[in-house]
Amino acid sequence: ASVFGIDEALKKLGIEAINDGTSSGSIKFASGTTISSHSPVDGALIAKVKTTSKADYDKVMNTATQAFKSWRSKPAPQRGEIVRQFGDKLRELKKPLGKLVSYEMGKSYQEGLGEVQEMIDICDFAVGLSRQLHGFTMHSERPGHRMYEQYHPLGVVGIISAFNFPVAVWAWNTALAWICGDVCIWKPSEKTPLCGIACQNIAAEVLKANNLPEGISCLINGDYKVGEFMTIDKRVPLVSATGSIRMGKIVAQTVAARLGKSLLELGGNNAIIVTPDADIKMTVIGAVFGAVGTAGQRCTSTRRLIIHESIYNKVKNAVVKAYQQLRIGNPLDESNHVGPLIDTDAVAMYKKALQKVVDEGGNMIVEGGVLEGHGYESGCYVKPAIAEAQPHFEIVQHETFAPVLYFLKYSGDVENAIEIQNGVVQGLSSAIMTNNLREAERFLSVSGSDCGIANVNIGTSGAEIGGAFGGEKETGGGRESGSDAWKVYMRRQTNTINYTTELPLAQGIKFDL
Ligand code: NAD
Repeated sequence: ASVFGIDEALKKLGIEAINDGTSSGSIKFASGTTISSHSPVDGALIAKVKTTSKADYDKVMNTATQAFKSWRSKPAPQRGEIVRQFGDKLRELKKPLGKLVSYEMGKSYQEGLGEVQEMIDICDFAVGLSRQLHGFTMHSERPGHRMYEQYHPLGVVGIISAFNFPVAVWAWNTALAWICGDVCIWKPSEKTPLCGIACQNIAAEVLKANNLPEGISCLINGDYKVGEFMTIDKRVPLVSATGSIRMGKIVAQTVAARLGKSLLELGGNNAIIVTPDADIKMTVIGAVFGAVGTAGQRCTSTRRLIIHESIYNKVKNAVVKAYQQLRIGNPLDESNHVGPLIDTDAVAMYKKALQKVVDEGGNMIVEGGVLEGHGYESGCYVKPAIAEAQPHFEIVQHETFAPVLYFLKYSGDVENAIEIQNGVVQGLSSAIMTNNLREAERFLSVSGSDCGIANVNIGTSGAEIGGAFGGEKETGGGRESGSDAWKVYMRRQTNTINYTTELPLAQGIKFDL
């Protein structure tokens, strides 16, 4: 591992052999059990982390609740200034943090750097936004009255994140929550706890340098039980949870039971429609990157290609040819295209999916398999696979978080392809490859894609921070990042001010005293 400079990166990020996984900023707590973080790259133990006990959690929560009282009163542009400094610190530490993301999660180093860049971008976005937390003013029906609305912070925002974007998802939430005047408690995935500790170290340094109180950025660590501390806690008005649909259903119900708010970013089952008017070269690039990038472990990964029968063979041959050129191996080595899955449980799910598609009558056109031997000792490297399948297959309806791509054929009009694309429970990302204006517009129309993201002539994978990110149906309906996603981190208040000496009642009601 040290060949790739991991040891140096860990040192720069303040990662020790054993780390305290609970922190309210600079103060750390460590009374929970210990979890180990192993790299899927080479199977090595990277470091250990002390998880969060209920007693630690309560200390952190009390500190956060206290910190909110002063943080909310700091003018938003001044909070923006703190986020600006945080973004600068991320620029400084982009390489070591990108490397840790790659080594702990298994995505390519380039993607690790890309993820840190997303954090920097959302900081820039949030800084500008800190001067634009606008509300409307309305004309009152009553004379001498003024009406307007304003946005106030919510309080403590709980963030629960998935392993596959171990740093960016936190930043998307926290950068906006901070400028909105909220304080945050973050529980990263138990599969990537070190990424969480590294980020918290960076945030804590910036907050301390500005003499800000403990509790503005907090970290807790552990499995779902630690996440539950927040979902059942009335002191957490908003829980932002990213992960599987299974998790989202539990979190949503738990938070709703106490009438809290949740922001859900759950699984996808993303498709690219390839019409007779598609540019084949662009289709191949978009589909292959979408399906095998991050070893198929992006929520926006391409899982289904819905191809018109007239060009089916042409597309099939071109994609299969591209798959033959894929290099699988250490993601820190930039000559490789595909890295490992997160762990051997994920490998087992991948194997199960391949078996299931064959059992349901599918036809493998690029065989999968688990790689063994030199360089593959972690047991987490798998071959990206492609199966010809039918849209209704149970396995095709399901999100397998691995590089398995399904080819589905359609005939006739683009409406038929849209019906297949929408015929799943998830609704995150979707795309159409076409040079036909009518097809593109139908895909984007009211009767087109039902997803939160709908692209024309680019793939399903990835997103820019400027747009609101999220999906419909069982993807959970939440929106994060750009556009007006900030509003979910605030409470809206309507204010009416009477500057006369009369008190007229609304709707002309008379109430004589
Ligand atoms: P996961 O659901 O297993 O875990 C996600 C997080 O939820 C972890 O931190 C976990 O500890 C926590 N958790 C699980 N059960 C909980 C409970 N009952 N209460 C509180 N917390 C709980 O997901 P994963 O395997 O880490 O990530 C992969 C999944 O995440 C995929 O389905 C992927 O599509 C999805 N994802 C979605 C987005 C998006 O923006 N829509 C982004 C990234 C990942």
